[in-house]
Amino acid sequence: MIYPLDDAPLADNINRQDMTQASRSGAETAAPYYLPLADEVEVFQAAYASRLPVLLKGPTGCGKTRFVEHMSWLLKDARSTDDELDEPLLTVSCHEDLTATDMVGRYLLKGDETVWSDGPLTRAVRSGAICYLDEIVEARKDTTVLIHSLTDHRRILPIDKTGELLDAHPDFLLVISYNPGYQSVLKDLKPSTRQRFVSLEFDYPDVATEAQIVGHESGVDSATAERLAVIGERVRNLKQHGFEEGVSTRLLIYTGELIAAGISPRRAATASIISAISDDAGVQQAVADIVDVILP
Ligand code: ADP
Repeated sequence: MIYPLDDAPLADNINRQDMTQASRSGAETAAPYYLPLADEVEVFQAAYASRLPVLLKGPTGCGKTRFVEHMSWLLKDARSTDDELDEPLLTVSCHEDLTATDMVGRYLLKGDETVWSDGPLTRAVRSGAICYLDEIVEARKDTTVLIHSLTDHRRILPIDKTGELLDAHPDFLLVISYNPGYQSVLKDLKPSTRQRFVSLEFDYPDVATEAQIVGHESGVDSATAERLAVIGERVRNLKQHGFEEGVSTRLLIYTGELIAAGISPRRAATASIISAISDDAGVQQAVADIVDVILP
């Protein structure tokens, strides 16, 4: 089957994004920085030893992606072969237009020819990489079929378009993430899917741990990092007052980065925390009040 040309850039974009991700995770000599919050490293290592698929649950920006990058680096010695992988980790950020075809692959027009191009999931299944499907429930429903056949004893990937039934490489591992708080009931992960995974729950860290992360990632001094972490904790407490998501560790790091670049702390917090987390004037005011108390 020949796909319309305007489909091609989409596949290409995904591939390029994955390659950036993969080369970043693969080429580094030191492990991507990750501060464990509990026993997640040990549990993931044990899951990998039996090639059990893993589900990471937790709010946005709390470290799930960084954790997978870290684990991919850590597990390179636990692989069954010594082959160096070009792409040890393939990350796909799922969205509502993402189809099974985007993950598996498609025929592309190259000059007069149509050539098959593996999608990121297929590349991982063939090579024995880790495939991380971020925010899986955002993807179209037809992707679920792929997940099911890859996560039970069959470990196969059916490629309808080429008629191939691909056996997963022994080192292949599927990792998916989802954010239970943010999903609507309609987009909830089905029990039949959920129960195929070892689940690891993530949440924002305590103040001391988050201060360490913010300091490391943004380069601000420890006193500023601590203040930002306290803002994080207090803003998250607002959730009890109807405010859906707290501020993520990622946004606290952004604030730190602006401060490290010379922006005044309050201005940095306005741009990266207050304006970023809500459009609601009431919520913004409540968050601004917290910032006012904590930042100089
Ligand atoms: P998620 O995938 O949960 O949305 P990320 O992994 O992208 O979140 O986390 C956002 C950023 O926060 C990371 O890039 C990293 O800088 C930082 N981060 C969060 N948690 C940790 C942690 N436990 N150790 C190290 N960095 C962390």
